[in-house]
Amino acid sequence: MLFLDEWPEFGRDALEALREPLESGRVVVTRARARAEFPARFQLVAAMNPCACGWHGHALRACRCSAAQLARYHARISGPLLDRIDLQVDLSDVAADALLQLPRGESSAAVAARVAAARTRQHARQGTLNARLSGAALDAHAALDAATASWFAAALERLGWSARAAHRSLRVARSIADLAGDDTVERAALAEAMQYRLADAD
Ligand SMILES: [Zn+2]
Repeated sequence: MLFLDEWPEFGRDALEALREPLESGRVVVTRARARAEFPARFQLVAAMNPCACGWHGHALRACRCSAAQLARYHARISGPLLDRIDLQVDLSDVAADALLQLPRGESSAAVAARVAAARTRQHARQGTLNARLSGAALDAHAALDAATASWFAAALERLGWSARAAHRSLRVARSIADLAGDDTVERAALAEAMQYRLADAD
């Protein structure tokens, strides 16, 4: 796993260099006389603030960024790079008193067991993880019924998504279905997968 904290602070070249290995799972280094290829299959987790000062959208403190600064901060992460992030989640601040009153969440052990079961399902069905599915294998194992397929096509048209975004959403939907123990990818799983790409749309 590669975790980039404050990822807009990384150099543009370094960030853009992630695009190829994120897609192919390989990194190719080319020099004048040699070309070497290395395995680079990793899971990318990245975190960023809502803006450069960190307070945009906060309930109690005011953001000091101008509209131009805000736009510049978000522009550091290019569209093609963001396109490769499957789960984009906005996290809002939790007030201190609310934090103390939150009910205890599910234990990590319970979540880990659910994930392990979902991975076992994937291997049993298709011999690999959903993240590795592409082309005909993706079509076969994340098949949609006719009504869901036409709903998906209309949504893609309206949102103007790339083929890559569509395929990535299908893989996420397949995983949501596997976590629920469902054999088929239903519209609800697909809609949930799609909304993980819409977090930053506002
Ligand atoms: Zn700000």
